[in-house]
Amino acid sequence: MKKLEDYVTSIPDFPEEGIIFRDVTTILEDPDGLSIAVDGIREMLKGVEYDSVVGPESRGFIFGVPVAYAEHKSFIPVRKKGKLPREVLSADYELEYGTATIEIHKDSIKPGQKVVIIDDLIATGGTIEAIIKLVEELGGEVVKICFIMELAGLNGRDKLAGYDVEAMITYE
Ligand code: 5GP
Repeated sequence: MKKLEDYVTSIPDFPEEGIIFRDVTTILEDPDGLSIAVDGIREMLKGVEYDSVVGPESRGFIFGVPVAYAEHKSFIPVRKKGKLPREVLSADYELEYGTATIEIHKDSIKPGQKVVIIDDLIATGGTIEAIIKLVEELGGEVVKICFIMELAGLNGRDKLAGYDVEAMITYE
């Protein structure tokens, strides 16, 4: 039986020299890889009480929506600037390579709503920190944060102190 890490492809020098990109497309391209990944996140969420999954564009959509569907929860997209059609709340953040702005629909989270955040990977933690800010500004509560992969050497978890964070695969 193959493990989830066997489905990840590591690409040296992408998108910039010196970065090893952990490619999830080879998880998705295999039905066993896809089900191990989605079921693994569902397993992490056993016993967690929540209303919605929040996932960032675009790989957070890929893993967040099947989990939300299987668990009969709603899915709330966080998108890159200028993509969401209704009134938005925005947050700027720094990426492992560059800066960006993400947005969420202002009316997508109600005060007291419990959410879990799902993304493919945590590197510096900047993306997730910005998403937490958006959710909390709208009055939501982040009850768990789930990743397929964690790049532990970048210490992204330091930005998420006090939150329940779990990753299926850890790279140093
Ligand atoms: P952070 O904000 O934690 O520095 O970066 C995490 C974000 O960048 C995630 O949304 C993730 O999709 C993307 N990312 C950064 N490095 C990688 C990588 O090596 N592989 C994948 N799949 N995504 C990455």
